[in-house]
Amino acid sequence: MKEFHTTLNRKLYYAISFGIILLMTFGLLISNPRIGNIKMGYTLHSVLLVLLALSILLYPRYETRPFRVVLIIVTTAYFYTLFFLYPDTWSTFIFLCFIPAISILLFDTKLFYFSLVLNGFLITLSFCYIYTVDQGARYYHIETDLVGNILNFAGSQAILYFIFHVTNMRIQKQRVYYEQVQNAERLKTTGQLAAAVAHEIRNPLTVVKGFLQYYEGNDDFKKEYKRNFSLMIDELDMAEHVISQFLSIAKPDKETRSSRIVVKSVLDDVTELLKTYGLLHDNHIELQVKEDCYVSANPIELKQLLINLIKNAIEASPHGANVLVKAVKRKGMVEIEVKDNGRGMSKEEISLLGTPFYSLKSKGTGLGLMICYNIVGKYNGTIEFSSDPGSGTTVTLQFPESS
Ligand code: ADP
Ligand code: MG
Repeated sequence: MKEFHTTLNRKLYYAISFGIILLMTFGLLISNPRIGNIKMGYTLHSVLLVLLALSILLYPRYETRPFRVVLIIVTTAYFYTLFFLYPDTWSTFIFLCFIPAISILLFDTKLFYFSLVLNGFLITLSFCYIYTVDQGARYYHIETDLVGNILNFAGSQAILYFIFHVTNMRIQKQRVYYEQVQNAERLKTTGQLAAAVAHEIRNPLTVVKGFLQYYEGNDDFKKEYKRNFSLMIDELDMAEHVISQFLSIAKPDKETRSSRIVVKSVLDDVTELLKTYGLLHDNHIELQVKEDCYVSANPIELKQLLINLIKNAIEASPHGANVLVKAVKRKGMVEIEVKDNGRGMSKEEISLLGTPFYSLKSKGTGLGLMICYNIVGKYNGTIEFSSDPGSGTTVTLQFPESS
């Protein structure tokens, strides 16, 4: 997640960062017991402060995982150094407890666990040192109640974990919501586009059809011509039907009838239809379908959806690879999975799926998945793509089970 793409966020970040760096510098320069005693400790403190300040200030430019790891390591080193350089300043112990909180602010789950483990390891070493070597000479405040301090530390880590968990759950929820809003917006644009295009085509078709009907009934034309006219009219009817269907997707029509469909029989039909298409590159469609899966939908639309998905899977597959189609019941839903071992997709490619005219194929239309999203939405279903470049794609559909 890019956090600093707005100027306001950036400004706020830098303002807070300068404040923190200023406080740290005061700590180094004002009433520091080691000041004037320029030895290893003071130099180490200064060097780490500079490193930390640089990492904080440079972070918005990079925002990458390696940079975040560096930031956490430098912060950890800085606070542990303070803890060991200034044993009389007991409050440095508080900072040690809060080190993992920084990765919560960076919205990085793995980094949080890393930081939690690293901190646990370092505090164990520190407590061992205080208990066995120091024995309360410099760390009297910790040694006198070692168990209490250990418990407090563990408690602080538990609280941090709780905060992290709740924040993370909220973020995930918001992410899903954001994706849904994005998809809804995408569908809206697509619908308007489809309606406009279909409308434009329908008008000239009606005019041409009208003339043909007129000529068909006109005795000035020879019989064989008239036969051609009626053929042309049939073809135009067909074209009109296709456009009506397309319009029905753009403007979901209440009249397209839903019925209780046996998923297996629909999949058998679709597989039969696509068998020859698959054989062009020696791709077989393998079915693993449970008999008792029923959904409520319009059979033509469900077929259209499955044809699009299986066709895409075949087109992505290398020569001779199979496409696996599964259907099972799962917690009141029917789950249909279309799995291929084809070229796969990157995260960016997946986020573009369903956008009208998005296609990576030389002869692709980029409309197939847009239609799929519409159909899935119409029947309260969900569609999910899981894919990695080079290792194939699994499309998972879920529809409420029809009893
Ligand atoms: P089209 O098939 O006409 O290109 P689609 O909307 O069906 O349009 O698909 C859009 C794009 O999504 C495809 O061009 C392809 O790049 C990608 N895609 C869809 N399904 C798969 C799949 N199973 N494996 C790899 N890429 C896929
Ligand atoms: Mg397609």
